[in-house]
Amino acid sequence: MNCRPFIVPVFIPHAGCPHRCVFCNQEVVTSQPEMHPGPEGGFATADEFLRFRGRRQGPAQIAFYGGNFLGLPTERIRCLLTTATAWINERKLDGIRFSTRPDTIDSHSLDLINSFPIKCVELGVQSMDDDVLQQSRRGHTATDTVVAVRRLQARGYDVGLQLMVGLPGDDEARMMETGRRIASLNPAFVRIYPTLVLEGSLLATWFREDRYRPLSLNEAVDLSMKLYRFFRQRGIPVIRTGLQPSEGLNLDSGMVAGPFHPAFGQLVQSACYLEAVRGALGRGDRLPDTIELRVHPSSSSHLRGQGNANLAALRREFGFLNVRVMPDSTLIDEVIALPEGKMIRVYEPIDADFIDLF
Ligand code: SF4
Repeated sequence: MNCRPFIVPVFIPHAGCPHRCVFCNQEVVTSQPEMHPGPEGGFATADEFLRFRGRRQGPAQIAFYGGNFLGLPTERIRCLLTTATAWINERKLDGIRFSTRPDTIDSHSLDLINSFPIKCVELGVQSMDDDVLQQSRRGHTATDTVVAVRRLQARGYDVGLQLMVGLPGDDEARMMETGRRIASLNPAFVRIYPTLVLEGSLLATWFREDRYRPLSLNEAVDLSMKLYRFFRQRGIPVIRTGLQPSEGLNLDSGMVAGPFHPAFGQLVQSACYLEAVRGALGRGDRLPDTIELRVHPSSSSHLRGQGNANLAALRREFGFLNVRVMPDSTLIDEVIALPEGKMIRVYEPIDADFIDLF
């Protein structure tokens, strides 16, 4: 199962959405106006994108993102899938994926897509807490997600789940419970997005009325780190953390407030490295003045953190005078060697006997 194919996106901002969820403005996220693409529109852009693939090997999938794909009228769904299938028959692509809401997965929609070469369905889950879903005006429940995942998996699709940190009414305990319930569904992968206050969204109105406070960048990174580690330790790939920067998504225009950072995913990974070292050192131990940490050269920047922030944190928290990072190409990725031959894995696997929560 390869969940990381080359993705050729066709953005369909808000197409098929029954309403606007409080946090959403896909026109800002995708830098494209609300649209229902015809074969000549979104596909023309996808064709250009495909040229970027160059000589890269591996599967390529066309992806309908930015809307609620199975909420589109039946004829529109059929038309988009037929055009995409023609590309696959021409060997330009290997498969199709799309994002859709959990409450669109029923026997009618599954029968509709059955004859097309769809590999993967991404569900906008956002939370598994019904109160958070309600406050975010999602219009579906956690049970809808459970049912949708089971139906899709029964038909053999890879199922990716998207979730958000910092939604109205959410907190760390609820978020981690969402993580546990999502992990127990055994998804092929997850994506983690911080909630941003986007211009034109209801959340922007609430923010201006002091009814919603976004997470700070540090809070969002910390929560995302906890989720990221949780999934990785259970062997569930996290294929994205944070939104891709786009023209519309910056502090000067589309974004009102919130924990946006162009390298959000890197901050989260660095936080994971820091957390792993913290856990291994243990507080209260007698520690030397200087500590040397070795990692594979490709992981060196994760261990250091942005602007060496992780090294500063270790000095501050453990009283080291000096923290050295030494690149060591004999080590495998995501392993840190501490003094006295101690080795730690950043995402130490946990034998998870998941309790079936449902
Ligand atoms: S979150 Fe999904 S369903 Fe809600 S408005 Fe945005 S694209 Fe539509």
